[in-house]
Amino acid sequence: MSRFWSDITHELTPYIPGEQPQHAQLVKLNTNECPYPPSPRVLEAIHDIDGDALRRYPDPTSLALRESIARFFALSPDEVFVGNGSDEVLAHLFQGLLAHESPLLFPDISYSFYPVWCKLYRLDYRRVPLRDDFTVDVDDYVAGKGAIIIPNPNAPTGIALDLHAIRTLLESNPDAVVVIDEAYIDYGGVSASSLVPEYDNLVVVQTLSKSRSLAGLRVGLALAQTPLIEGLTRVKDSFNSYPLDALAQRAAAAAFEDVAYFDSCRQRVMATRDRLTLSLMEMGFEVLPSTANFLFTRHPAQDAAKLFSGLREQGVIVRHWNQPRIADYLRISVGTDAECSRLLEVLSQLVVE
Ligand code: PMP
Repeated sequence: MSRFWSDITHELTPYIPGEQPQHAQLVKLNTNECPYPPSPRVLEAIHDIDGDALRRYPDPTSLALRESIARFFALSPDEVFVGNGSDEVLAHLFQGLLAHESPLLFPDISYSFYPVWCKLYRLDYRRVPLRDDFTVDVDDYVAGKGAIIIPNPNAPTGIALDLHAIRTLLESNPDAVVVIDEAYIDYGGVSASSLVPEYDNLVVVQTLSKSRSLAGLRVGLALAQTPLIEGLTRVKDSFNSYPLDALAQRAAAAAFEDVAYFDSCRQRVMATRDRLTLSLMEMGFEVLPSTANFLFTRHPAQDAAKLFSGLREQGVIVRHWNQPRIADYLRISVGTDAECSRLLEVLSQLVVE
């Protein structure tokens, strides 16, 4: 604390990300990274960069990258916004598009960064409770002249909404911006990107941190009709003209061009997820139906906090939140088959004891 802090700095409650230990021996299943490396074309793009590209400022508009992303989603580059991780894209959204006369609505169990941005940008918000089975009831979202943000699939539950539910949400809230945060959409969910041309109040947010194995590169994106993208660009250009460096722009475009690699990676993760789900259930765990690259699970006879620390002692890191409704649960990222086997081995010792 310092007397030089602004008032707002005293009031902030910063987001705490999952730990990133530097110890290579750990089985790290706590931050939903992809267990496989990025496409070889990404590494080539980084390797091939020349000194001039680094000497100069990068393209402030990231046009070539936005063109690659637009091709992938069959949209126009004017309907694509990119930022330094989807966290930055979301922060700009909170500031530039979600602050209105009625509160911002999001699920009571959701991405825990949302209330942090609300505080930073002084947004009024209301948490909408999930049903008892942790599903979202879209009829509960009546935003009026406010806004809505929902992760799809939701985090940390992994449960997805279908496109029909998202249409209902958009149509019943025509005066509210509706943000669908699709950080985990590539593991069996259906993206709302195809709805962008139809709804002027929709923003779809995605990241390259998960299904494209690029959490270290920090690239995220938003898809929306041009007027909303223009709003985001105004915020960006009032904050940082060059949020994406030259390496990130080229490498991210290469990732979007290599569709075959992207598909094979996510198929592998989904296959491992489904095997891991069955093995956990055989051990007596209840596992929420996941359409993500992680599982949200509890054991009716075991204390989740103890399982969490027991796993940690054996070098397996998962995530546990000591919060209402979810304190019994562990969130486990889907790793390689070998990492999941190690997790199951340690869990089987802990569950017997
Ligand atoms: N949205 C959700 C729901 C997430 O879980 C995450 C990852 N923590 C993000 C957005 C941000 O991801 P990134 O900044 O790496 O793109």
